[in-house]
Amino acid sequence: MEKNGDIDVSSLTDQIETLGTQEPKHNSLQESSHDVIIQAVDDDPILSITTFEELKVHENLLKGIYEMGFTRPSKIQAKALPLLLKTPPQNMIGQSQSGTGKTAAFVLTMLSRIDFNLQSPQALCLAPSRELARQIMVEVRKMGKHTPVVTAEAIRESDIKSTVGKTRNEEFASAQLIVGTPGTVYDLLKRRIINKTHMKIFVLDEADNMLDQQGLGDQSIRIKNMMPKDCQIVLFSATYSTQVRTFAGRFAPNANQFSLKVEELSVKTINQFYMDCKDENHKFEVLDDLYTLLTIGQSIIFVQKRDTADTIARRMTEKGHKVINLHGGLSTTERDEVMDGFRRGDAKVLITTNVLARGIDVLQVNLVINYDLPLDNSSRRPDYETYLHRIGRTGRFGRTGVSINFVHDANSWEIVKAIENHFNREIVKVPTDNWDTIESILKKEISKLNS
Ligand code: ADP
Ligand code: MG
Repeated sequence: MEKNGDIDVSSLTDQIETLGTQEPKHNSLQESSHDVIIQAVDDDPILSITTFEELKVHENLLKGIYEMGFTRPSKIQAKALPLLLKTPPQNMIGQSQSGTGKTAAFVLTMLSRIDFNLQSPQALCLAPSRELARQIMVEVRKMGKHTPVVTAEAIRESDIKSTVGKTRNEEFASAQLIVGTPGTVYDLLKRRIINKTHMKIFVLDEADNMLDQQGLGDQSIRIKNMMPKDCQIVLFSATYSTQVRTFAGRFAPNANQFSLKVEELSVKTINQFYMDCKDENHKFEVLDDLYTLLTIGQSIIFVQKRDTADTIARRMTEKGHKVINLHGGLSTTERDEVMDGFRRGDAKVLITTNVLARGIDVLQVNLVINYDLPLDNSSRRPDYETYLHRIGRTGRFGRTGVSINFVHDANSWEIVKAIENHFNREIVKVPTDNWDTIESILKKEISKLNS
């Protein structure tokens, strides 16, 4: 294997390092909407806004939006917000690629529905992971900064008790907007710690995942059944499998909908590659080489199991790489610390499981590695939705990103081919042993994309 100083990987390194800092290009795919299919329940002409002012939301909310650096709405915000903000409220089932600004669309809707004089829960948002719930809450607090909104996070309590001084019960009694994970929210509703009486809007982020019967579905359905009849129901995701879509229609009846064709789902600014490794152990060697030979900005490595995450993290550390590791087996405090550290950029390499496949938005992430390909747990078939969400952790809001899939046997090769066919997007092979070639291939693909 060529590993000596003759190889100039610095230019690739520059590429990867600068990828995440590139300014999003207007008219990039995320900004293109001609393949968005809209179905509105009313016959009125479908409005599309060009500025946030047109929404006629309170000026304090506009102030929050501008302070977040959002100068104009993204395409999906432009189309979804007029429908989301209608009076009387209408349900919404929305789909758009990862990184297109779905959060701001539903956060603004939640905030604009709240009567700030009423000290009771009025907006509820569910997310599939603690990390995503916390991230959404950060967006709520930024956007709502100039409003008196009272918020509470309904996630498993951290081992370190909060210093706010309020008990958890008091916190939820006065909260107007709640973001949480299904288990905790359900528990708090059942124990009447969260009062549901005045709930006006119920949002499921990563909706397909939240309605999946095998996963979080049960709890989300029970929670929905507890909501008042006239509560607005909003579902957002980048993916909906066929079965879930049918169910979503029943969960959010008479909803306005916008969706994408499957070929449009895969974000064009994410370059997809695969590396053909000899076997499981060779995967680790290639990973080690990758991080030894290339200087990579910030990256996420996905594995299928918690054990693998622990093992890879330990072995990478032994090899002298600075990595962190997050999965559902850690304590809540550990999870919060790891995630906060990664967001601050203290750690550049995060090894994780599907727990972080969805929603997590760290703009600096410019490389995603599928060390293990995403498989459906029961059938061992490719999990297309998870694949798309995982690689969608890079290439956020028009930025470019790189994703590399590790293949190590006939089966995993077939999975990559199936994924390629499914989304009709080429996954380019890069060798595992010639870092000159690796560099030039990665570069060529990236420059094709930028031209
Ligand atoms: P999605 O949920 O669609 O995957 P997010 O809501 O996480 O995407 O948004 C992706 C990134 O785009 C976030 O960093 C967010 O702050 C940013 N963003 C959202 N809306 C705008 C906007 N109108 N202008 C600029 N940046 C935006
Ligand atoms: Mg999201």
